[in-house]
Amino acid sequence: MGVIWPESVLAELRLPSPLVRLDDDRLTRHGLSLSVKRDDLIHPELPGNKWRKLEHNLAAATAMGRRTLLTFGGAYSNHLRATAAAGHYLGLTTIGVVRGEERLPLNPSLAYATERGMLLTYMDRATYRAKTEPAVLDALRERWGDFYLLPEGGSNAAAVRGCAQLPAEITEPYDVICCPCGTGGTLAGIATGLRPGQRALGFAVLKGGSFLNADVDRLQREACGSGSGNWSIEQDFHFGGYARTTPELGAFIDDFTARHDITLDRIYTAKMMYGIYALSGRRVFPAGTRIIAVLTG
Ligand SMILES: *Cc1c(COP(=O)(O)O)cnc(C)c1O
Repeated sequence: MGVIWPESVLAELRLPSPLVRLDDDRLTRHGLSLSVKRDDLIHPELPGNKWRKLEHNLAAATAMGRRTLLTFGGAYSNHLRATAAAGHYLGLTTIGVVRGEERLPLNPSLAYATERGMLLTYMDRATYRAKTEPAVLDALRERWGDFYLLPEGGSNAAAVRGCAQLPAEITEPYDVICCPCGTGGTLAGIATGLRPGQRALGFAVLKGGSFLNADVDRLQREACGSGSGNWSIEQDFHFGGYARTTPELGAFIDDFTARHDITLDRIYTAKMMYGIYALSGRRVFPAGTRIIAVLTG
């Protein structure tokens, strides 16, 4: 059973998302081709992997008769924004548990979430780290009643199944598909949907992201009973950590926009794209490799 979106949402929905071939001499000189999967254009308020990760979760919540969604995120979380928008359009109550102290005025992400009706509650960092433990969840249920729980970043088995539908939208042949990794749910799903011989390559956007290997494997097992073994994660392109940036990354974003008229987001997609060009320059991809980069938002 699917979700019944209002006409206003469906009117702006772009699925399958467009696939665009980039012409770039920095890649063609190594015999590589690159296309971008423009998931950032899926929907203005529910873009990219957030749409794909929420879809099956919203269907599950609806099937279970839950009218309230509760989820977790940092103060700049795209996932909180998207969950707030989904709740608004589907008439569901949304509760956002934000890591850390309340800061006023609200930043644009949280201000948007509250405009879309999300109720915000704040959790100190120690409790936040324990947010998957029964004691913490019980306390939340006592306060907010029965809710459908979406984990941080929306990554769970249902999200993996949603992202697993992405590869089937691509009708041209390719060898490697790349995406940025925050919690790893998107990579887990994309890798699940590949054909034999194809590989998925994730780019960790946070420092110390080696835990992602175990998380992606666990998510795949929860979603399909086994790991797909056709993926790996690059750990060297976090630029100092989550939401950190450097002048070099900023210059790369500006140059990329000038060449291709596509704006990369500095937290996620710019780090992936920088990594793809860096690995290409180091001849990590054999000549002839056809690469797809997913613009996840
Ligand atoms: C949330 C987000 C991600 C992270 O996806 P995960 O499934 O958590 O790895 C990547 N890119 C963009 C643009 C995002 O908003």
